[in-house]
Amino acid sequence: MDLTYPSEAETFRKEIRTWLEDNLPEGWFDDGFEQPPEERARFNDEWVKKLYEGGWICATWPEEYGGKGLSLMESVVLNEEFARAGAPMRADFFGDTLVGPTILQWGTEEQKKEFLPKILSGQISWCQGFSEPNAGSDLAGLKTKAELDGDEWVINGQKVWTTQAKHADYIFLLARTDQSVSKHAGISYLLVPMQQDGVEVRPIIQPDGSGEFNEVFFSDVRCPKENVVGGVNNGWKVAMTTLGFERGTSATTSHRRFERELEVIMERAKANGKIADPAVRQRLMASYSKVQIMKVNGWRALTASLHGTKDLSVAALGATNKMFWSEYHRDTMELAMDILGMEGQILTGSSNDEPSMPGLAPRKALREYPVSPLQASFFFSRSETIWGGTAEIQRNIVGERVLGLPKEPKPA
Ligand SMILES: Cc1cc2nc3c(=O)[nH]c(=O)nc-3n(C[C@H](O)[C@H](O)[C@H](O)COP(=O)(O)OP(=O)(O)OC[C@H]3O[C@@H](n4cnc5c(N)ncnc54)[C@H](O)[C@@H]3O)c2cc1C
Repeated sequence: MDLTYPSEAETFRKEIRTWLEDNLPEGWFDDGFEQPPEERARFNDEWVKKLYEGGWICATWPEEYGGKGLSLMESVVLNEEFARAGAPMRADFFGDTLVGPTILQWGTEEQKKEFLPKILSGQISWCQGFSEPNAGSDLAGLKTKAELDGDEWVINGQKVWTTQAKHADYIFLLARTDQSVSKHAGISYLLVPMQQDGVEVRPIIQPDGSGEFNEVFFSDVRCPKENVVGGVNNGWKVAMTTLGFERGTSATTSHRRFERELEVIMERAKANGKIADPAVRQRLMASYSKVQIMKVNGWRALTASLHGTKDLSVAALGATNKMFWSEYHRDTMELAMDILGMEGQILTGSSNDEPSMPGLAPRKALREYPVSPLQASFFFSRSETIWGGTAEIQRNIVGERVLGLPKEPKPA
């Protein structure tokens, strides 16, 4: 792995540092800096505008679609500097991380011009319509169908676990567009407006009272014929691109969010004396080692991408990534709850708390169920080995596609 940065990267690093120093509130870098809740809320709102004006949201996207056209190396430096400064990035997972990059890769020129600037400016928000009641891990078994009627697709069916569907303007949706071919072949990837008759969103209420996931029913819902991404009946390949973005995380910086949270957990163990327990220390060190492994693997993946290396170890890194970080996080948050002990059973949070891990912005304490940041992260960690493809499915992918083991038998 290559640990040196070219001199242009260091020049760019200075540019980012200067921008952050000029734009973050006064005192941000001082020890013990804190903002009262109202000030923090105002900062969060204003900060997204500043990021947009600075061009730092999705800064690798080409300039003609509103990005800054940063190289991979520059984007790594950008992420490193934001992480170093503890400056938040916008957390629009569905637009910035999933559908935006998918449109960049597969979209027509018209789709790029229409959708990418609106994603960047935050004008449209998205949800992901892949899973159905009988099509989760076996996604290709989906039954929602779309039929052409003149210049429009007409969509009928049901999706489930659709996060943020209640607030989304658009859904990127997989639908069956040819019933006569094999199940992977007859799927298309459509961009469908949510605010129209025939779309019914029913929240699934979670134990904390929130309804973040939804069932979404489509009855003769319409979208323009040209809103198919990557060609009619080519949706499986396009969906795999989106899932690749969902399972992967930024090469050199993804470990940092875990690193920061682990520091908080260690502080708690020191404060309540649990650090003296050899079993706790052992588990903390196992977690620490895994964060270091993520760091080194990030460097390996980055080096491979910069040098264009494509060998088995690179493929293995990609395939094991989601399984590794999600299981790490689930186990570490169980450890955090063990360290908190009885305190972990009491709701000690407030809706003004900042999440314990950057990127966890939506996981806030609700007034009726005020989880602390660590409790919120613990709850969310239970879902991370499931969404975006379960850890078992990731193991199947490693076995079959990386190690070349025989394919698992399919049910008759
Ligand atoms: C927090 C969260 C947010 C989500 N948000 C969205 C969203 O916005 N949009 C969306 O489309 N979906 C979303 N999902 C759904 C998610 O993609 C599915 O839950 C996931 O793909 C698993 O599908 P399933 O729930 O139907 O489980 P199933 O596929 O029924 O799996 C059940 C169990 O069987 C195991 N299993 C299944 N098949 C195999 C196999 N072949 N080999 C070994 N084990 C197997 C699985 O690993 C799992 O443990 C979300 C899920 C969660 C938890």
